[in-house]
Amino acid sequence: MLFTTDLLVEIFPDFRGSVNDGISIKQVSTDSRKSLDHGLFIPLRGEKFDGHDFLDQAIKQGAVACLWDKGVPLPTFTPNDFPVYYVEDTLVSLQELARVYRNLVNPTVVGITGSNGKTTTKDIVTAVLEKKYQTHYTLGNLNNHIGVPLTILSMSPNTEVLVLEMGMNHLGEISVLSNIAKPDFAIITNIGESHIEHLGSREGIAQAKTEILEGLQENGLFVFDGDEPLLEPYQEKVRSLSVGFERNNDFVIENVELSGAVTTFSLQGIDQFFRLPLLGKHHAKNAAYAIVLATELGVSNFEIAEALQKLKMTKMRFELINGKNGVTVINDAYNASPTSMQASIEVVSQMKGYQTKILILGDMFELGDHAREFHRLVGVSIREVDLVCTIGEHAKEISESTLVKAKHFQDKEALILYLSKYVKEKTLILVKASRGMKLETVVESLL
Ligand code: ATP
Ligand code: MG
Repeated sequence: MLFTTDLLVEIFPDFRGSVNDGISIKQVSTDSRKSLDHGLFIPLRGEKFDGHDFLDQAIKQGAVACLWDKGVPLPTFTPNDFPVYYVEDTLVSLQELARVYRNLVNPTVVGITGSNGKTTTKDIVTAVLEKKYQTHYTLGNLNNHIGVPLTILSMSPNTEVLVLEMGMNHLGEISVLSNIAKPDFAIITNIGESHIEHLGSREGIAQAKTEILEGLQENGLFVFDGDEPLLEPYQEKVRSLSVGFERNNDFVIENVELSGAVTTFSLQGIDQFFRLPLLGKHHAKNAAYAIVLATELGVSNFEIAEALQKLKMTKMRFELINGKNGVTVINDAYNASPTSMQASIEVVSQMKGYQTKILILGDMFELGDHAREFHRLVGVSIREVDLVCTIGEHAKEISESTLVKAKHFQDKEALILYLSKYVKEKTLILVKASRGMKLETVVESLL
């Protein structure tokens, strides 16, 4: 059980239906298509649908109470004793309920934002803290103004640590999330270029991300990418620890080595090697945030190292796969931004033991007027690979700007056909693009 309807009566005093003994609420959901056993149904208005049209379905699925926009007539079929809490705005009320519940359970809250590496860092932080604490965390990518409250409202009351991914598209959004979550630890993984079309510049992006400090607890800790000069001014404002490769950081990442599918590294002053089943310097940094945090929370270096070594990651994020005829494929088709694309390309150029290295790169979305410039920057940055294949309107710029051999394709079929002669041993193929490009179909053709 999460809480009883007594809590709802306190927060939302305008209600109808059963006022007797508090009814147990075991889940909070906005989705009437899924089981709502002992659930509180919160109808939201989306672009296409209005949750208020689905109360009958929610009740059939097991909902035992709901919030309700007071401007919408309650359907006549609603049972007389079914508790309905009238509110001005169901979204705001979902967020309000999450805020109250967060304080009621009162776990140690870790908030993670940044342009790239949020989910990865969230997964690593969770794996490391699970060693010692009852930990709840964001499932998948539920990182927005609805996902964060729902994540908070899905933690059991005995949760000791709550790890939240916080994402955004516009200024002001992280501020809202941070004020709901009230983090004890705030992590900013990096500042990249994603969403620059809404935020204007990298400075704008840094400003948007640092809104996470607005909700930080008074004695909270800010852990951030110390190699990013744009974050420097913010460290004065709160207790903070910088993490990075540059020598002036509080935690300096050293001895990074990539071999096979593993990255090893150490942190200056910490007598422990860490092995990570993820490839890339940037992942050493994501893991370093988790190490700093876990150390603050009393997890030993040995326990941390053990948890890192056993990590299980979400699919399609730089996933190393043995493909057809012995070819090695890196499925990174989950998503792409200029920073993450460059990071992945750099890892490929550092990987040893291959005769031929091929990049298959598709469009990166959400770059607005900067799209051409950023695709060209990626193109120019490519080195130490043998062939670049591009697909998509913007990715064509990568082919046109790169100094290595490149070929642009109009459609996936042509690309797949062309690739067939490269599908063999000692060949490494990276596949990366924004989600909408769905390049996993290209990956499948290589397996
Ligand atoms: P989203 O905005 O889609 O939720 P995210 O911030 O959760 O993204 P991840 O899914 O963890 O990011 O990682 C996406 C990609 O970003 C990875 O595949 C990797 O290529 C790259 N990446 C991860 N961490 C970093 C980092 N610290 N710096 C630069 N690039 C990174
Ligand atoms: Mg994510």
